[in-house]
Amino acid sequence: MPSDTRTVIVTGAAHGIGAGIARHLAHAGWSVACADSDADAVQKIATEIGGVGIGCDVGVESDVERMVAVARSRLGRIDALVSNAGISKFEPMATTSLASWNRVLAINLTATFLLARTLAADLKTARGAIVTIASTRAHMSEPDTLAYSATKGGIVALTHALAMTMAPDVRVNCVSPGWIDTGKHGPLKPSDHAQHPVGRVGRPDDIAAAVAYLLSEAAGFVTGAELVVDGGMTRKMIYT
Ligand code: NAP
Repeated sequence: MPSDTRTVIVTGAAHGIGAGIARHLAHAGWSVACADSDADAVQKIATEIGGVGIGCDVGVESDVERMVAVARSRLGRIDALVSNAGISKFEPMATTSLASWNRVLAINLTATFLLARTLAADLKTARGAIVTIASTRAHMSEPDTLAYSATKGGIVALTHALAMTMAPDVRVNCVSPGWIDTGKHGPLKPSDHAQHPVGRVGRPDDIAAAVAYLLSEAAGFVTGAELVVDGGMTRKMIYT
């Protein structure tokens, strides 16, 4: 895609990893539409980076279509999508309601399909790219993470299915973060860092750098791939 007109929608951009991705891409010269259910917070990020802030529930089809229409009209064109918004819920199986299960699927998995479908013509014209955000929980689990883990495995598979469906015009790849500190869970302990083969917990910019690479021409021969960014944790054999 031409470097002077790069525009991208980043979902879940009000907080955490999504805010990091939006900032990183803006610093790299992208025009960024930041979409998030927290309309006030996403407007603050957009103002900070000179982008466009759009309130949107990515789990609702009509809201996705409205958000994309606003982004298209404000940015002029859409070259790329980073489908990052997600919710994480630990729920015992016995008390996980179907409504709760379906809500996690809507936000974490169905939203990426809706966004890709809505943006397909824009991205094809731009010969653009999509990056989805899965998780190392696509491959390994703790108890009581059924819906979340299912959606993240689904994102890895949806990513390669989209890559084949949208080829050759649009590349579609996924980043699977490990533990990324977004400040939500208080101060980290030295042991949190030490257990990682690289010696530290991840930061939003670790994921943003991977996303920027996958969106760039440097990744022109990469599609359908999953890039695991986890400080080596899923390669670490543990015997206690
Ligand atoms: P976060 O700090 O909770 O940020 C997620 C953002 O998405 C929030 O701004 C949230 O808004 C927004 N969001 C939630 N539901 C939405 C909806 N229906 N429509 C639009 N926006 C919505 O989470 P994060 O840790 O940065 O995670 C970002 C992505 O990385 C997620 O897909 C997550 O599964 C994945 N991930 C994170 C980690 C990690 O260690 N942090 C590891 C692996 C994968 P509200 O604040 O208003 O809810």
